[in-house]
Amino acid sequence: MTLNVAVVGTGPAGFYAADAVLKRIPDCRVDLIDRLPTPFGLIRFGVAPDHQTTKKIMRAFDKTAREAQCRFFGNVELGRDVSLDELRANYDAVIIAVGAGNDRAAGVPGENKKGVIGSATFVGWYNAHPDFRDLNPPLDTKNVVVIGNGNVAIDVARVLVKTRAEMAEADLPEHVQAAIERSPITDVYLVGRRGPMEAKFTNVELREMGELTHAAAVVDPRQLPEAVGEVEDERDRRLKQKNLSTLKEFVEHGAAAKSKRVHFVFFAAPVEIKGGDRAEAVRFERARVENGRAVGTGEFFEIPCGLVITAIGYRSLPVAGLPFDARNHIVPSREGCVSDGLYVVGWIKRGPSGVISTNRPDGAEAAEHIVANVKPAGKAGRDALARLLAERKVRVVSYADWQKIEAAEIAAAVKPSPRRKFTTIPEMLAALT
Ligand SMILES: Cc1cc2nc3c(=O)[nH]c(=O)nc-3n(C[C@H](O)[C@H](O)[C@H](O)COP(=O)(O)OP(=O)(O)OC[C@H]3O[C@@H](n4cnc5c(N)ncnc54)[C@H](O)[C@@H]3O)c2cc1C
Repeated sequence: MTLNVAVVGTGPAGFYAADAVLKRIPDCRVDLIDRLPTPFGLIRFGVAPDHQTTKKIMRAFDKTAREAQCRFFGNVELGRDVSLDELRANYDAVIIAVGAGNDRAAGVPGENKKGVIGSATFVGWYNAHPDFRDLNPPLDTKNVVVIGNGNVAIDVARVLVKTRAEMAEADLPEHVQAAIERSPITDVYLVGRRGPMEAKFTNVELREMGELTHAAAVVDPRQLPEAVGEVEDERDRRLKQKNLSTLKEFVEHGAAAKSKRVHFVFFAAPVEIKGGDRAEAVRFERARVENGRAVGTGEFFEIPCGLVITAIGYRSLPVAGLPFDARNHIVPSREGCVSDGLYVVGWIKRGPSGVISTNRPDGAEAAEHIVANVKPAGKAGRDALARLLAERKVRVVSYADWQKIEAAEIAAAVKPSPRRKFTTIPEMLAALT
């Protein structure tokens, strides 16, 4: 008998899991289900449009999707088109890999004002995620505040200040490029509660900020320590050392002769977003770091701005039929196993941390559990799913369909951009007729 496995979510975690199952059980059948017509999750919709090298991992996942045992069910949403109970009734094992695609609230007064946008939403907009096509962020401002000190915050700042020429090899949608080009933005403030040595930037991303055509990286030298200080972990110490050297280089280069600036502001905790209906400024409390934590000093200052992007983390939403840890925004599991035959992998399991390859061990763990504990029970698998979806008149996007969508995007690209992404689901489906 054949073992039928459903993987829900086709980001890195879903693909690593599919690959791990196929390697261990070569004669099984793996169905890859995604709510969007496009596979690859945040590789397409999160990873920055000007970091195409990072997106090359899609080629490896494409190989997995084209395996004879695999089938892609795109445009099929768990909870809307099919329930978890239905999947469990028809598959021997179900692996949930739906990620954490939502914004975490900043928890400061004023965050509901116009012009305050979470990074999941803003990054989705500039990466052509269909959910955010009509965001129309108010870019009619000179100053932008980005709250957060990780790579997503850097991505947002960089995309806002790069020129069209610098973006030529990216896959930024034209309406986004045009909106950024039209905007009067000159200064982006990247603000972190803690200090430069606690910031989560990786060095490649940080260095890039010193290499932009029209934008200078600005750092107040008084916020930089003389040296890194004691750090137990050697790898961590090396990263901090590199970041400190890079920040010191930014100080040396200065901002002369550049028309835009990205200001690195440390030791500042947001306490309020001020303004009327629209954000007009962010009020911060200066902080110092004690035992790794930011502690307020009672001294306040404001940065005027018409746009605030909060890049403070992503969160998952509950999945009907699965337990949910509402504090940590994850599905609780024992090493990925919710119960025999039901697994979680990736960000829905661990929370939003790490890089693409961090999700790989989750897939191996789930696959090992399936090998040890799940036997084929003669379930109908994909035939039953296809029947159910046909009854519900769901327009399933197959992998061949996705390849057509991709071919149309590549054909429409203005070289050297690799693709001109469709920005809505109807546009994608129209490319299939
Ligand atoms: C802005 C940003 C930039 C990043 N840049 C990098 C980088 O440069 N390098 C790097 O290594 N890592 C980067 N990462 C991290 C990397 O993207 C994540 O580690 C990884 O994508 C998490 O994988 P996942 O499969 O758990 O989630 P996701 O990639 O989010 O995949 C989840 C999938 O599930 C689907 N889905 C959701 N709900 C449903 C449902 N109900 N039914 C069916 N399908 C559903 C979604 O459409 C999506 O395809 C970045 C992350 C972000 C947010």
